[in-house]
Amino acid sequence: MVARVIPVEPFDLVIFGGTGDLARRKILPSLFRRMQAGQMPKEARVIGAARAKMSRKAYQTLIREALEEFIPEADRPEEDVAAFTGLLDFVTLDAMGDAGWEELSGKLRQEVVRAFYLSVGPSLFAPISKALSVRGLATNSSRIVVEKPLGHDLASAEELNAQLRTCFAEGQIYRIDHYLGKETVQNLMALRFANALFEPLWNAYHIDHVQITVAETIGVEGRGGYYDKSGAVRDMVQNHLMQLLCLTAMEPPSRFEPDAVRDEKLKVIRALDPVTPADTVRGQYRAQGDIGSYLDHVENPNSRTESFVAIRAEISNWRWAGTPFYLRTGKKLRARLSEIAIVFKDVPHSIFPEVEEKRGNALIIRLQPDEGITLRMTIKDPGPGGMRLTEVPLDMTFAEALGDQASNVPDAYERLIMDVIRGNQTLFMRGDEVEAAWAWTDQIIDAWEANGARPQPYDPGTSGPEDALALLHRDGRRWREIEI
Ligand code: NAD
Repeated sequence: MVARVIPVEPFDLVIFGGTGDLARRKILPSLFRRMQAGQMPKEARVIGAARAKMSRKAYQTLIREALEEFIPEADRPEEDVAAFTGLLDFVTLDAMGDAGWEELSGKLRQEVVRAFYLSVGPSLFAPISKALSVRGLATNSSRIVVEKPLGHDLASAEELNAQLRTCFAEGQIYRIDHYLGKETVQNLMALRFANALFEPLWNAYHIDHVQITVAETIGVEGRGGYYDKSGAVRDMVQNHLMQLLCLTAMEPPSRFEPDAVRDEKLKVIRALDPVTPADTVRGQYRAQGDIGSYLDHVENPNSRTESFVAIRAEISNWRWAGTPFYLRTGKKLRARLSEIAIVFKDVPHSIFPEVEEKRGNALIIRLQPDEGITLRMTIKDPGPGGMRLTEVPLDMTFAEALGDQASNVPDAYERLIMDVIRGNQTLFMRGDEVEAAWAWTDQIIDAWEANGARPQPYDPGTSGPEDALALLHRDGRRWREIEI
């Protein structure tokens, strides 16, 4: 089966911070793969803009090296690399000053889609968007792309949104949460809304609870300065975990269109009950053997910033009242794993009383490390010897079902950048969604700050602090293992 690729319109994409880590590691390799897939028209142009003084040729070399670093050799034939770097241009520009803007303006074409990707620190979002507007580079149809962190709390997110909106209409602002670009996350919507099977069961009557886990094995090494001002709630829950929660819990939108989908997600966030500290567990990893502790990597030796959090959330609406959504995310955990587990209720009456341990059906939507969907079913253990039950997974791992096509699952950034060019905001966060999510996480953080407790220590390589296990035990439930 060969995937059908429809080329996008010709475009000028300006990447502010075009020499930075995100641009080299994600944005440009993603564009390269889209070019290989036949989706980028020959007239497309990508213009790096950054403070570095370098020629167009030097920039092309820098990006050639990035492709060599981030794309396997077998996947980058020289003619493709040459064709791609031929589309690149560069402008030396200071976001805070006057240098470079006129040159950039002179390079932009009138007749093509114009997009500005702000791959720079958030303190530059306002100055760049203002300069684009005041200096006449932004048109009514041009697009601006921004990445997390989209604020630090509700007040700063409101301020950032206000600044962006003085220069761009909401319909021009693309706020990236790369989790929304993941194939499995979009598949969650296909699974729910393109199959008649699940939706009748998708509610508090049939679902016992939902677990959303984003576990990392890395610590904060090298990022301690940034991370210590942020923590797991701001860095992961406010954006990625809440987006996953919204897509799991939202009502069916009337159409798969930007505002129809985003309206439904917003309703979920607004229906979330405030969370008390008793329904949260904060953790911070300690040292173990040669592995340094969280505190070894940050400046403040008394930092109370959490490297782990678990939250018991409830959604007060007809569909979900009484069904907990347990969220957890952390660093230095046992495995790198991201998944949503929808755990169904047990059968109302068992006709197999000798089977002691009952585990309901579960639908596992795995985002990392390998993307796929598994339905956990109970069947008879084969063979003679009476009726024994066993669990088997009905596996919808893409690699098996879709063959070659699945091995080419595009990176989230590939999908999202092409959606910017297409002008499709469905998989991007709207400003009011971001603000509502901050309002919910702010009350968690404010309550922690008010009670002044320290995060619980946990050992690297585990599932987090003991109390995180207790958070489910007290409800008679348990977390799925963090293992791959
Ligand atoms: P980086 O420090 O590697 O790159 C920053 C870029 O900004 C450089 O190209 C630099 O030249 C440019 N720059 C800095 N000051 C400038 C100025 N005054 N004028 C013009 N250009 C200037 O940072 P990064 O890791 O690429 O991250 C960029 C943004 O993306 C940050 O906001 C970060 O939080 C966010 N982000 C990064 C990642 C990632 O994986 N790196 C992931 C998600 C979000």
